[in-house]
This record gives sequence, structure tokens and C-alpha cells, in this order.
Amino acid sequence: MLTSGAYAFHPTQSDKKKFARQSERKIPIAYNVDVVVVGGSTAGVAAAVEASRAGAKVFLAAQEPYLGEDVCGTFRLWTKDKSISNTKLGAAIWSEGLPSQLKVKKTLDDALINNNISFLYSCFVTDILTNKTGTPAGVVMANRSGRQAIVAKSIIDATPRGLVARMAGAEFGNYPAGKQNFKFTVVGNKLKKASNLSARIHEEPVQIGFKSSGSANDGSFQKANIQYKAIEYSMQINMKDGSWASFAEAEQIARDRTWDADQVESSDLLFQNPPDKMVGQKRWNNEKVDLERINIGVFQPRKTENIYVLSGSASLSEKAAETLLAPGKMIRIGERIGHEAAHVASFSTVPEQLRIKGDSSLKVEPGDVGEFLEGLRPLLNLGEVVSEETTLPVLGEYDVVVLGGGTAGAPAGVGAAQNGARTLVIDYMHGLGGMGTIGMIGRYFHGYREGYTNIVDKGVKDMGPDHPRKKGNLGEWVFDWKTEYFRREIRGSGGEIWFGTIGCGAFVDNNQVKGIVVATPNGRGVVLGHSIIDSTGSADIAIVAGASYSYTDGKSVAVQGAGVPFKNPNDFYNNTDWTFINDSDMLDVWRVMVVAKDKFEEQYDIGKIPQTRERRRMIGDFTISVLDVYNERTYPDSISLHKSSFDTHGFTEDPFFSLKPPEHGGIDVYAYVPFRALLPKGLEGIAVTGLGASAHRDAMPVIRMQPCLQNQGYAIGWAAAIASQQDKNIRYIDIKALQKELVRIGSLPESVLSDTDNYPPPIEKIQEAVKTVVQDLDGLETILWDQEKGIKALTDAFHKTQNEEHRLTYARILGMLGVEDGWEVLIKAIHSFDDWDEGWNFTGMGQFGPSISYLDSLIIAVGRTKKTEALPAIFRLMDKLTPECHFSHFRAVAIALESINDQSAAEPLYKLLEMPGVRGHTMPDIQTAKRLEPKFKNDVSTRNNSLRELILARALFKCGDFNSEGYQILSEYSKDLRGHYYRHASGILESSTYLQKQDRD
Ligand SMILES: Cc1cc2nc3c(=O)[nH]c(=O)nc-3n(C[C@H](O)[C@H](O)[C@H](O)COP(=O)(O)OP(=O)(O)OC[C@H]3O[C@@H](n4cnc5c(N)ncnc54)[C@H](O)[C@@H]3O)c2cc1C
Repeated sequence: MLTSGAYAFHPTQSDKKKFARQSERKIPIAYNVDVVVVGGSTAGVAAAVEASRAGAKVFLAAQEPYLGEDVCGTFRLWTKDKSISNTKLGAAIWSEGLPSQLKVKKTLDDALINNNISFLYSCFVTDILTNKTGTPAGVVMANRSGRQAIVAKSIIDATPRGLVARMAGAEFGNYPAGKQNFKFTVVGNKLKKASNLSARIHEEPVQIGFKSSGSANDGSFQKANIQYKAIEYSMQINMKDGSWASFAEAEQIARDRTWDADQVESSDLLFQNPPDKMVGQKRWNNEKVDLERINIGVFQPRKTENIYVLSGSASLSEKAAETLLAPGKMIRIGERIGHEAAHVASFSTVPEQLRIKGDSSLKVEPGDVGEFLEGLRPLLNLGEVVSEETTLPVLGEYDVVVLGGGTAGAPAGVGAAQNGARTLVIDYMHGLGGMGTIGMIGRYFHGYREGYTNIVDKGVKDMGPDHPRKKGNLGEWVFDWKTEYFRREIRGSGGEIWFGTIGCGAFVDNNQVKGIVVATPNGRGVVLGHSIIDSTGSADIAIVAGASYSYTDGKSVAVQGAGVPFKNPNDFYNNTDWTFINDSDMLDVWRVMVVAKDKFEEQYDIGKIPQTRERRRMIGDFTISVLDVYNERTYPDSISLHKSSFDTHGFTEDPFFSLKPPEHGGIDVYAYVPFRALLPKGLEGIAVTGLGASAHRDAMPVIRMQPCLQNQGYAIGWAAAIASQQDKNIRYIDIKALQKELVRIGSLPESVLSDTDNYPPPIEKIQEAVKTVVQDLDGLETILWDQEKGIKALTDAFHKTQNEEHRLTYARILGMLGVEDGWEVLIKAIHSFDDWDEGWNFTGMGQFGPSISYLDSLIIAVGRTKKTEALPAIFRLMDKLTPECHFSHFRAVAIALESINDQSAAEPLYKLLEMPGVRGHTMPDIQTAKRLEPKFKNDVSTRNNSLRELILARALFKCGDFNSEGYQILSEYSKDLRGHYYRHASGILESSTYLQKQDRD
């Protein structure tokens, strides 16, 4: 019988088990290949390479954010077995001795790339596709882009526990309840002795060649010669059963038993030789394995076609499996299976009449599953497969479920658990703390550090009170200490934690979010919660549940710089800013993770999550604007206090900042976040924290600091616990009672208890500001806060004043807001410039203050008046632009011309694009992405070049195009691997009336 993922581990569906309904839907096909490899183990990669060499088209889906999960994930890198060098891959990894994590990961990446094999990271298999005869014909995977299908003639199941084979109905032994043996490796720790632990200290230490300087801007790395002892612990853990909850708990127990303050690194994954082996076409009972002669039938499930099980779950004796699971050993079997799978595929017909079988016969919880089903990118979809109506098993029921145990999510878990809620925290990484730990940002930048954050900071220091690694500064921490601190706090209060589990859908009943759909290494299922906290930082669950959101689209390409850091054990702060990343776009994540390994080639490792500052923000009951922040808006329902500068990491978009740029980085602004900004409009039972909250992108830099988000997370956790205790939807809790608690612990000042909304500003204040604004724009924030009244007062003042300078100030502000009255004054002002003033280039790191010049702002303002009379003035300055000129001038011209939208602007824009070096900066494939990425840690050149090309092309296209150049460039960027450029370019093309007209014609 075919089964949806998590059923594979629940063969008996007792009455007590609950199920959730999933309606029929269409799953987009992302790849159509001969061979799909599920799992990124070394053997899986070897199989993919060999299949490709044998002529097959191959796709590989890795579950971890890197390849080599069998050795890097389990930290089983040590081997003395010289025979593994008999395989090309084994030799490339091990021939020079103990490899670094990066060496393994990069060697495997390169092996696939050099053989033209497509692959993705962080993908969890969820279902099996079948063809017209009911035979397995591919898989469905879940990742942060949603779910996609891969059609394949042969499937190589390189998951550690044979998940694909189980879903295809293969027979397996029962997972024995009781004590089971696992291995877990830690680096740097003291040797521990306990009856339930036995240890092996690896003779060869982990060797580090570089040390992080800890500086955000420093491009160099300090050479070092540091060694850390690695200990592999073997331990017995009591397993209730083979469910995912049991495995997730076992990982926590391994961490409980092995952590100490010396730890600089640990395994992501528990290692186990699976006790519940598959029933194969053949059985290998011998202890020894002859890699060349062992029958491939041992790796093929009985009575199931097209599947090879390339793991310790194959039909092997325990000893033989032990041998094959030694580092590098399975590579040769992978090669043989890859070859065989390609051969079988070569005479198989293309799978037809594909379906994903469902079972709708069970009694279900009312509701349905919401998920992303647009494909990796809609343009790349190769069709769709019908997924029949079905049921998903309920994997657990909690008062509070927190998805994303990051900066805000881990404290949310603590807040809920400490307030008595049955709490589950889920993350697809193997540690808590998100950007502040796994993300390598182990240092605060500004931020309101009172209240719960103060408790965290002290608690983290107390993880090693007299330890030499303890950071003297309260605003810095040891990576391993903070992640462990949160883990203990949650578990200590009875909370549960599931690592290595991705949230990929919402279970919703009439706008009530009742649960999270998760994909686990044991398959897919639903976790029900009275209250759901979406702490993914990207509002993953709120959006699939139906919330609207804002992000890069056809209108906007303003993105804060992002990066992937290098990581050596013991590093805690490697802050990068060298690209843009959409971390919900798996192609982009793949691109950046591959390229980062080239960039930091000599380091021990790279980070596991992209460092993204710009994320999807859901639209809440209230959206915080730049001027709410600037005017220090107060609310009756403030839930967290935020403090920072406008650290914009790029250019801003809000008209206010185009006139009055944010102050220097040293100057802090305070901002409250009201509870309503965390509640997605139209949804019940869910709150969103952190970077996914409802705010304008230009306001987010003040709101995003870790100390403040920790306080926010804790507050929401507390709120969710109250909601479940009182059986209320979280939206309707007594906010004053919550505020009192937050005031008590110092997270909020007492004034919030009596605060009212101070918006809108009184008209007298606006009128007064209209007078003062002529002096260095003093009071502009008041005028623009209530734009309707502000514009009226400004227009009156513009027409009344006789002072030329004042008229220009009013005209510039009005123009920026799209009011035409001052257009002649603006043109005159532009004419007074013989040449361009000092502009701005995309700097990323260290970007404070203006991102356009004064002349840029005049040009944008006149453009927004839409007056064609302004064109000659703009064209005159365009003639003076050279490729060396600042980016902001190109942007100003593009914005202005696009607003005026006159065909006569097309040719001048075309000429700008034809200047040497302006064209040709797309990254359509991984080879180009690798070639174009400079080694410098925080390089900005690729971004400046691409942004300029894209922004000019967009204006050209919108002005009617010239020689179809604008269309051509946008089409190229709509296939760019970098997700934000893709979104912007394809968004413009999709919304264009030009294209819609062509379609009609
Ligand atoms: C490069 C960079 C430098 C920064 N520098 C500083 C600084 O110096 N000081 C400072 O205070 N702040 C800094 N910030 C800001 C701050 O770190 C972030 O704003 C903050 O950490 C975001 O918190 P969050 O909880 O929203 O997201 P995160 O901390 O990113 O947490 C999100 C969590 O959700 C998990 N997750 C996401 N999606 C899923 C899913 N579908 N399923 C399962 N798990 C999921 C992730 O693994 C992660 O653990 C920086 C940010 C960046 C990117």
C-alpha cells in the first residue's frame, strides 16, 4: 500500500490517532528526470554522479542545508580505512587526511555541479508519485518554497531510514521499543563518564587554520593554528517507538548528556544503524561485505519497483550495515546503484498518468491544508500532478506550537512553557537562537536590553560563570552557550523541541489556524496547537494560511544586503553583507550556499542559514510605518519596545527618507510594536514575531534588533499560553494583564499601561511644522505623518510664499509626494546644476544616512509630478552620466523617467544601458554565479552592477522600450538565480500591459 510520509511509521491506525484533511490539489512538477536521489549522503552523491556519467538526467534532494549529511551531519569524518580512496569521491575527500566540514561539502557540491546534476538543500520528501500501473514514478518534496514534484523513472532512496521505500509500501521490521544505541559527536568538550555513555576520543583533533576577527567590515582572516578534541559518544536511549517524536526526543537527550561549556561544535544528527531493516529482494546475512559482489537486490525492496535503498536500512545483517555505514564506505555501493538505476531508466518509458494517491476514508479533523504550490518558480514548472484528497496524521497536540526557534521563537517557547502551556518548538536547524546563534550574529547592535533580554543575557553568562570563554560584554555570547541556554529553559519547563523539522503548511478551518503542517525525516503530518506562533521570521505559516504579505515584487526591489558567513568552531560573530538572498526561494538558497563555499574556501565551514535582513512581512491588523517610528508613536496595546538606528543596509524607498535621510548609525530611535502588528489580518489563533511582523520595510531596521525581538518573542509566548489557559483566540486576550507582566519583568516601561495612540498629530502642530520645515526640513515627520492634511497645508504654503528658497523646499516635498504644483520650480532648480553632485553607491554594510543626493531627490521629485516638460532637464544630465557615476544617479533618472512615462525617454535610457560595463550582470546558472562572485567578504560590486542594469531596464521597458532591450534584460533577470532580482523582473513582466496585449494578439 502506498502511504503518505508519516503514515509509513504508523502502520496501525488505532482509534486514538487523529487525522487532518487535505483536499485534492495540484502539485507543480519541478524536475522531470531519469533518476532522482533522495538524500544528500556521500553515497547519494556518488550514485547521482555515476548515474549521470551513465547518461541519465539526475536530480538530488538533500535534507540538510549541505551535502554529506552522513558524515558532516553526524560528524563522522574520521576514518583510517585507506580503501575508501579507491573511489574518486572518497579519494577527493579523504586522501589528504581528516577533511574539514567545508572540504567535504564543497567536494560533493562540485562533484554534482561538474556533472551537470541539479540539486537542492533542505528538502524533505513527503509523498510518492505513481504512474498508470501504480508503480513509483517520482517523489514530492517539501521545502521553504512549498511542495514540488519530481518525476523520475528510478528512485534512489538515500535517506537514513528508507523513508521513500516505506512510503512506497515496502516491508520493514518493527522499530523495537526500549533501549537503542546511538552515536553523537561533540567537539571541544570535556570527557564525560556515565553509565549510559561510552566515549571515543578521536586521535586526530579538529584543526582550524583561521580565526574570526569578529569585525563586520574586515575582509581578511587571521591565520591560526587551533586544535579541538573531538569525542564520539555511544549511548543507549530509551525509545518509546519509531515515531518522529521519539527520534526528536532522542536528539535532545543526546544533547542533554553531552553538552558542557567547552563545546565549540556538535553533530547535527544522531547516528544509528537502523534496527528495523527493510525486507529486500535479497538478504545479506554475512558479517563482511564485498563491495563489488554484494547483490544489488539487497538494496531493493521486495515487491516494490524502481526504488533502491542506499542506506543502513537495506536488507543487511547488522554487522554488514555497520561496515557499510563507516565513513566513505557506502560510496562504492552508491556508484554501483547509480549505474544500475541509470541503466534501468534507459529502457523505461516516460512515466504517464501520474498521481499522488490519497486516502480519504478516515475520520478527520475539520479543516484543510494551506501551502505554497507555485513551484520553485512558476516559470520553471513542467506541469502538475494531481494529489488526491487525503488525510495527514496528527503528530502531536499542544497548547502552543512555535515554528522557528530563532531569535524571537526560542524566547516565545520559553515564555509559553514557563507560563504552564504544553509547548512544542520546531526548527529545521539543529539548535535554537536563529540568527543570533546558527546565523553567527552573536553580538547585539543597539537594542532595548531590559526585561527578558536581561534575564537571557545573565542566564547565558551563567552557562560558564568562571569559564575562560565567557564574554566580558553582556552584549556578546558564546554561540554554543546561548543555543543551549534556550534549549534548557524550554525543556526545563516541560516544553518539547523538534529539530530537523520544517514547517511547510498551515492547517486551517474557516480562518482559524489550528495547526502547522510539518515535514520530518519520518514524513509529513500535522501538529495541532491551540495557539500558533509563527517565528520563522518570514511569516511562512501565516502566509500559507491566507495572510497577505509584502516583499520584493514588480514594484519594489529595495533589499537589504544579505550574506552567508564562514564558520570556524568557536566563532560567534561573522557578519556578512555581500549579496541579496530570498531565503524562501530554494534556488536562491542553493546558489548562495554553493557560492559561499567558493568565497570562504579556506575556512573550516560556512554557516547553515543565510543571513537575511529583508524578509517577507505579513500584513497585520496594524502596519508600522517609518513615520510611526520617527514620531515615537504610542499605542494602547504595545507589546515590545525597540531601539536602534536606521541601519538600512541599502537604499530606502519611503518618500520621507528621500527627503530627510535617516540619521547616522550612532543615533538611536525608540519604537513600540503594538500587539496588532503581530496578528495577521483575517486569521485567528496565530501570531507572527520578528522579521515577519507587519511593518514597512524601511521601518524594520529599527525594529529588528535581537534584544528587542527576544523580549517580543517572550511576550508572545506568554500571550499564547494565556490564550490557551483561557481558551480564547490569542487576539482577544487581556492585553493590559499581559502588559502588567511585561512591566513587572522590565520588558516594557510602566507608561505603556496608560499610553494612548498619539496619532494623528493635531492640525496646529502640522501647520506649525509647515512653517519650520523650510529650515533643514524641521518638522517634516509631523507633516507627512498625516499626509492628507500635510499636503493641503504644504500646498497652501507653497502658493503663498514669495521666498524662492522656501518655494523650492515646498516644491521638492510636494513633488516627492506626487503633487505637481511645484514642477516649474523644480525644473529651474535642476537647471542650476552644471553637472551631477556627489551620489551614492550600494554599500550594504555600514550604510547610514542618505542613499540619494540632493540633485537625485530633485530629479525624483520632478519625475513624480509627471510633467513631460521636465524631460529636457533630465536628458541634459543623463548625457553627463558615465559608467563610473554613482548608482543613485542612475536610479533617480530611472524613477523619474518611469513616472513621467514618455516614449521619448526610451532611447536615452537605451543609450545608458549600452555604455561599456552596464549590461551583462545576470546570473542565470550556477557556473556564472560562481565565476562572478568576488572573494572579498563584503563585496558590493555584483549588487551595484545588477541593480543598475535592472533598474534602467525596468524604466526603459515602462517607457515603451527601445530595440526590445528593456524586455530582453527583464527576461534575463526573470531567470536569474538570485531570488529578489527574479521576483522583481518577473513581477514587472507579469503586470505589464505590453505583455498582456501581446498575449491577446
Ligand atoms: C547579517 C545580519 C546581521 C545582523 N546584525 C545584527 C547585530 O549585530 N545585532 C543585532 O541585534 N541584530 C542584528 N541583526 C538583526 C537580527 O539578527 C535579526 O533581525 C533577528 O535575529 C531576526 O529574528 P527572527 O526571530 O525574526 O528570525 P531568526 O532569528 O532568523 O529565526 C527564524 C528561525 O526560524 C527557523 N525557520 C524559518 N523557517 C522555518 C520553517 N519553515 N520551518 C522550520 N524552521 C524555520 C530558522 O531556522 C530560524 O531558526 C542582523 C541580521 C542579519 C541578517
